[in-house]
Amino acid sequence: MVSEEELLRRWEKTVEKLVREKVIRSEAVKNAFLKYPRFLFVERRYWDYAHVDEPLPIPAGQTISAPHMVAIMLELAELKPEMKVLEIGTGSGWNAALIAEIVKTDVYTVERIPELVEFSRKNLERAGVKNVHVIPGDGTKGFPPKATYDRIIVTAGAPKIPEPLLKQLKPGGKLIIPIGGYHLWQDLYVVTKAKDGRIRKKRWGSVAFVPLIGEHCWRE
Ligand code: SAM
Repeated sequence: MVSEEELLRRWEKTVEKLVREKVIRSEAVKNAFLKYPRFLFVERRYWDYAHVDEPLPIPAGQTISAPHMVAIMLELAELKPEMKVLEIGTGSGWNAALIAEIVKTDVYTVERIPELVEFSRKNLERAGVKNVHVIPGDGTKGFPPKATYDRIIVTAGAPKIPEPLLKQLKPGGKLIIPIGGYHLWQDLYVVTKAKDGRIRKKRWGSVAFVPLIGEHCWRE
């Protein structure tokens, strides 16, 4: 078994590479990546691979995204301290931990699979993250009790934008969401709600996510 020092050294190299390639562009994202190495959010048998820039399995047949994908979405979100953020698709809890490190305030993240609610809560606790609230349930409905949000980040692929998420976005807010097919590729969009409520969609590029399954989306 590789030592924790070695795992950290490998992780720092991954972060340096993402900075060199200009995938990580801000100090905020870089510092969050350095604070929460990905190995803290995968099962021990995957620790050896956690620095590799590829998705990895997590329980219940789901995935933790590749580091470059997570960095791209965080940079597109242009997070600032004190922003209220909702994440849909907690998975391992890693992305939520990174968001929480940047905004420094409470982050809400919704997960539909109970096993992953438990997995992510354990990971977040072990990593010492205190400002992430893992909400069990269907994230296609958003999380009305804390709406509206400055940012909503969806980490699973949808056929279209779930209407409740648009409603729960603040004027001036941004929604980051992969839209497209169930199994194969989606397009990553940055959806902006203008102050007058008008919606604008900007395509970033092709991505591949597990499906977003729920009432306002794909059905099981
Ligand atoms: N953000 C995660 C992380 O940092 O590990 C990775 C997310 S994984 C690619 C997608 C997650 O979305 C899975 O855990 C899946 O169970 C969850 N998911 C799919 N549909 C959902 C829904 N309607 N509501 C909440 N979570 C959902």
